[in-house]
Amino acid sequence: MARPEGITDFLCFIDGEWVAAQSGETFESHDPFTAKVWARMPKCDARDVDRAVSAARRAFDTGEWSTLNATQRGHLLRRLGDLIARDADRLATTEVRDNGKLIAEMRGQVGYIPQWFYYFAGMADKIEGGVPPIDKPDMFTYTRHEPVGVVAAITPWNSPLLLLTWKMAPALAAGCTMVIKPSEFTSASTLELMRLVEEAGFPKGVVNVITGFGQDVGEAISTHNGIDKIAFTGGEVSGRRIAQQATGNFKRLTLELGGKSAQLVFADAVLDNAVKGVVSGIFAATGQTCIAGSRLLVHETIHDQFLEKFLDLARTARMGDPMEMSTQVGPVTTQPQFQRVLSMIDMAKSDGATVAMGGKPADRPECGDGWFIEPTVFSGVRNEMRIAQEEVFGPVLSVIKFSDDEEAYHIANDTPYGLAAGVWTSDMGRAFTAAKRLRAGTVWTNTYRAVSYMMPFGGFKNSGIGRESGQDAIYDFLETKSVWLAFNKDVPNPFVMR
Ligand code: NAD
Repeated sequence: MARPEGITDFLCFIDGEWVAAQSGETFESHDPFTAKVWARMPKCDARDVDRAVSAARRAFDTGEWSTLNATQRGHLLRRLGDLIARDADRLATTEVRDNGKLIAEMRGQVGYIPQWFYYFAGMADKIEGGVPPIDKPDMFTYTRHEPVGVVAAITPWNSPLLLLTWKMAPALAAGCTMVIKPSEFTSASTLELMRLVEEAGFPKGVVNVITGFGQDVGEAISTHNGIDKIAFTGGEVSGRRIAQQATGNFKRLTLELGGKSAQLVFADAVLDNAVKGVVSGIFAATGQTCIAGSRLLVHETIHDQFLEKFLDLARTARMGDPMEMSTQVGPVTTQPQFQRVLSMIDMAKSDGATVAMGGKPADRPECGDGWFIEPTVFSGVRNEMRIAQEEVFGPVLSVIKFSDDEEAYHIANDTPYGLAAGVWTSDMGRAFTAAKRLRAGTVWTNTYRAVSYMMPFGGFKNSGIGRESGQDAIYDFLETKSVWLAFNKDVPNPFVMR
C-alpha cells in the first residue's frame, strides 16, 4: 500500500503544551516495511525530564486534577476511551507505520483498548478504605487508599499503545499524574494518543510525554526524586538497571519483562487446534511479544505427526506489507532487532539445532526492502541450548520432545523466566494439574495469547514484578494510609507505647 510522501515531525507533550526538546535536537523513526525514515521525534534529555516531572508534580500537588473527585476522574477516563474508539483507525495506522504491526491485528487491538479505560474509570470511585477491627478499646481506626503520586511509564517498542494503556488507565483512575517515555523506536502512537488526552479535557500536566533514548531520558527518570513510581515494560537488562537506579527515593516499581514461554502439546490434544495455537503463539506479531510461545514441547509419540502438520500450516504464512489486511507475518520492527534475531539463528545452528524451516532473511518480492525474517523452526533442540534459554523476540520456534508429564513440567519450568505457558490436552485433570505445576504468571489451556482488562497479567521469576490489568492492578498505584483517632483524652503514660 502506498505511503504518504515526506517526513512527519512530532512534538512532545508537556504541561498541556506541544514542545520541542530543549536541546532542539531530533531523532528519526523508520517504517519497518520500507526501512525508510518516516518521522522525526524530539531528542529529549534530563532537562526535559525535569520539566515534565515538575508539571506532573504541580498537577498532582496543587493543580486542578488534585481538586477533582474520583467520579470526575472516571468521567475523563471514559471520555478518553470514547475518543480512542472514535479514532481507532488513525491510531492503528500510526502503529503499523511506526512499528510494522499488522493492520489486521491493530484494528482489533485499538478497538479493544477503550475497555481498559472504561473498566478502570468504573473503579475510580470504588477505591474504598477499610475499618479493620482493632484491639484497643478507646481507638477508632480506618485505612485510606491514596494515589502514589507521580508515575513514570516506560514502554517498549513491541506494543506501544496497549502496554501504555495497561499503565495509564489504572494510574489515572487512582488519581496519579504521569510522565511517559515511549520507546525511541516507536514513539508516534503515544504522541498521537496525547491529542485525545488533550481533547478529553484532562487538566494540564496530568499526562506528559517525553521522547528519547533509554540511556539519557530513561536513566534521568529512574534517578529523578520527583517520581514516586515507575511502571516499566521492556527487557530484563533495562529492568534490572531501572530497579537499581530507582532506589534513590525507593520508588515503587512494577516490571513487566521478557519470557521464554513453553507450549506443551500432550498426546491427547486436538492436534489441529494445537497446531493453530502454536503457530499463532510464535508467529503472530512476528514473534515480537513477551508471551511468544517460543518453545514447543511435544510428546514423543505425536512429535513427527505434529511437526509435519505444524510446518504445513506455517509454510502458508503470507508475508508482506503490514498495511494489507491479508498479510499474516510482518517485518521485524527495528534494524538492530533484525540483526539480533539473525545472530541468534546462527547461534542455534552452531549449537547443533536443526533448521526445519526458515532460518534466514526473507527474500520475497512482497517483502520489499523491509526487515523480514522467514518464520523459523528449529527441531532437535535440547532445553539447555541457548536458543531454548534466551529470549529471541522474533519468529523463531524451538521444538523439544518429552516422554511424560513430569518431564514436560520440568522442561517448561527450566528457564529463568516465568511469564506464560500454553497447554494442549483433552484431559481436564491434566489441564488443572498443568495449571498448578507450571511456574508462570499466565497458563492458557487449549488457547493462547488471550488477554483481557479483567485478568491480571505479569510474570514469575525474571519475567518481572507485579501485575497489570484486573482489579488489583489499581493497588500498585495506591498507598495505604492508617488513620488512628483516640476517644480518650487522657494519655495514661506518655513514655510508654500503647
Ligand atoms: P528495552 O528494555 O530495550 O526498552 C524498553 C524501554 O526502556 C524503552 O523505552 C527504552 O528506551 C527504555 N530503557 C532502556 N534502557 C533504559 C534504562 N537504562 N533506564 C530507563 N529506561 C531504559 O526493551 P524493548 O527492546 O523496547 O522491548 C522488548 C522487551 O520488552 C522484551 O524483552 C520483551 O519480552 C519485553 N516485553 C515485556 C512485556 C511484558 O508485559 N512482560 C510486554 C512486552 C515486551
